[in-house]
Amino acid sequence: MTIAEAAPKDGEQASKKPKVIVIGAGTSGLRAAEVLVQSGCEVVVLEARDRVGGRIATSSKLGLPLDLGANWIHGNQGNPIIDLAERAQCSYSVDELDDTVVYAPDGTLLPKRLGEELVTKMWDYFDDGIEYSARNFSEIKTNVSFVEYYRSRVEADCLEGQGEKVKEYQMKVVELLGGIVATDIKRQDLKNLHLEKPIPGENLFVSSTYGPVMSLMAKTALENGCVRLNAPVEQVETVYTAAGPLHTVCTKDGETLNADAVIVTVPLGSLKQDRIKFTPAMPDNIRQSIKHLGYGSLEKTYISFPTAFWAAESTSYFIFLAPEYAPATNSERKIISAISLAHLPAPYSQPTLLFYTHGDISKRLTDTLQWDSPDVSRQNILAFFQPYFSRLPGYIADDPACTPVDILSTNWLNDEYAGNGSYTNFPVGLVDGVEDIKTIREGVPGSRLWLCGEHTAPLLGLASVSGAYWAGEMTARRCLVEFGMMSEDAERALAMADGL
Ligand SMILES: Cc1cc2nc3c(=O)[nH]c(=O)nc-3n(C[C@H](O)[C@H](O)[C@H](O)COP(=O)(O)OP(=O)(O)OC[C@H]3O[C@@H](n4cnc5c(N)ncnc54)[C@H](O)[C@@H]3O)c2cc1C
Repeated sequence: MTIAEAAPKDGEQASKKPKVIVIGAGTSGLRAAEVLVQSGCEVVVLEARDRVGGRIATSSKLGLPLDLGANWIHGNQGNPIIDLAERAQCSYSVDELDDTVVYAPDGTLLPKRLGEELVTKMWDYFDDGIEYSARNFSEIKTNVSFVEYYRSRVEADCLEGQGEKVKEYQMKVVELLGGIVATDIKRQDLKNLHLEKPIPGENLFVSSTYGPVMSLMAKTALENGCVRLNAPVEQVETVYTAAGPLHTVCTKDGETLNADAVIVTVPLGSLKQDRIKFTPAMPDNIRQSIKHLGYGSLEKTYISFPTAFWAAESTSYFIFLAPEYAPATNSERKIISAISLAHLPAPYSQPTLLFYTHGDISKRLTDTLQWDSPDVSRQNILAFFQPYFSRLPGYIADDPACTPVDILSTNWLNDEYAGNGSYTNFPVGLVDGVEDIKTIREGVPGSRLWLCGEHTAPLLGLASVSGAYWAGEMTARRCLVEFGMMSEDAERALAMADGL
C-alpha cells in the first residue's frame, strides 16, 4: 500500500479518541505519551531501537550499572526529574565528586588551592558570561566566542598574586567547559551563551544511574502497550482534509500507520540529516532554524581496575591541563578529566574511572571504536588514557592492581538514532538562538505535527533530560488544545509557568 492509499479519506476517522503517533521513546517522547494517554488519547510510540530511553541508557558490562548517556541532574530546584528520582528511590552524590586536583602541562600537580581556584574562577566566569549575554544580547556582535569574554576576565582579574603562568593555566582550564557545551569551548557563542543557563540549584550525580528514572518515565506508555520497538520511521506525510490534517507515518519495514497528530522527538542531529522525510517538506524557516543550532559531541569512557589504587586520598576529580605527555591522538594537547567512581557512596562505589571527551578528541576515539576489532580498539582506547591514569596517586607501573580490567566506551557519534552526537549547543555565528528554538517548537501551524525534544525545551532546560521531559509535556498539552481536550487558557498558564 502506498502512503497516499493508506491515508484515510475525509470523514473516515475510525476512532473517536484522537490518535497520536509519537516518534521516539526517549525522555520527551515518553513524557508526551504519558500525558496523552492519561488524557484519553490513543497513542502509539514508534521507537527505532530495541529499547526505550534514547540518550538515557545504562550498561552493566563492567559489573554495576553505568550510565552511557545522561548521568547528572542539572539543578535540583524546581526540576521535575528530582521528583522522579525520589520516587524511583535513586541515590545521588552532591559533594563526593567535588574534591579536585589539577595537573600542570608537565604532569606535576598544581598546589591544591590553586587548582581549586582555577576551577572555581572558570565556573564564575561561565556563570557571569551567561548573565552578561542575557543582559547585553542585542549589543553583543555575532561571531564572538565565549572565550573572548573569558579572556578579558582573566586579563582583568588574574588570580591574586599570580603571574603569567597562572593566566596561562586559566586559559587552559576553560577547555573543560567544552564537556558542558559538547564542543570545543572556542566554538561556544557569546551572544547566545544565556541559552546555557542552568536550572537553579546543585548538580547531582545519579549514583544509582538514570535507569530507575527511565523505568518510571516509560511505565505508562509500556503498561498501556503503546510502545513499538524496532520501528524506525522514515516518512511522515500530511494531507489536509475537511476534518483536519491527517498523517500517515511509514516505518523502514514498510508499515504505514495513520494518526490525527504526530509528535516527532528524534534528536536535532537526525533532523539536520533529514533522517525522516516529511511530505510536504518542512517550511524553510524551520529548516533554517534546525541548521542554525549546533549539535555537539560528548563521549564517556569508563576504565575499571582491580582496585581503586588512587582512592587512598580524598581526591575524586582529576584535571589534566594541556598535557605535554599526551598520546599522538591528542597532539593538540586538549584537556582531559576523570571522575573517580570509587568515591561514590556504597553500594555504588567501584574501582572505575570515568573520562569525558568532547569535540575532536571524542571523534578520534569513536572512529577507533568504529573501524577496529574490539581488541584493537580496546588497546587504542587504553593507550589514549594511560598517560593520564598513570599520573594518579598510588599508580605503580606493571603492578597488576594498576592494570585496567575492562573498558566501556560510548559511541554516540556513530549512532544514527542519537543524531550522530550528544545534544544541542549554540555555536559561534548563531544570530538568535531563542528565535530558532521557538520556530522549531512552533512547528507548522495548523498541521498537528510537532517537533519536540531537548532542542525545543523551555530555555532553562535546553539540552538536558529535564528540558526534554518538559518539552514532551508541553507538546502533549498543545496537542490536547488542538483536540479541544484542554482550554487554551489552561495551556497558556501552564506554558507561562514553564517559562516559555
Ligand atoms: C554522553 C551524554 C551525556 C549526557 N549527560 C547528560 C546529563 O548528565 N544530564 C542531562 O540532563 N542530560 C545529559 N545528556 C543529554 C540528555 O541525555 C538528552 O538531552 C535527553 O536524554 C534527550 O531526550 P530526547 O527525548 O530529546 O531525545 P532522545 O533521548 O534521543 O530520544 C529520541 C528517541 O528517538 C528515537 N529515534 C531516532 N530516530 C528515530 C526514527 N527515525 N524512528 C523512530 N525513533 C527514532 C531514538 O532512538 C530515541 O529513543 C547527555 C547526553 C549524552 C549523549
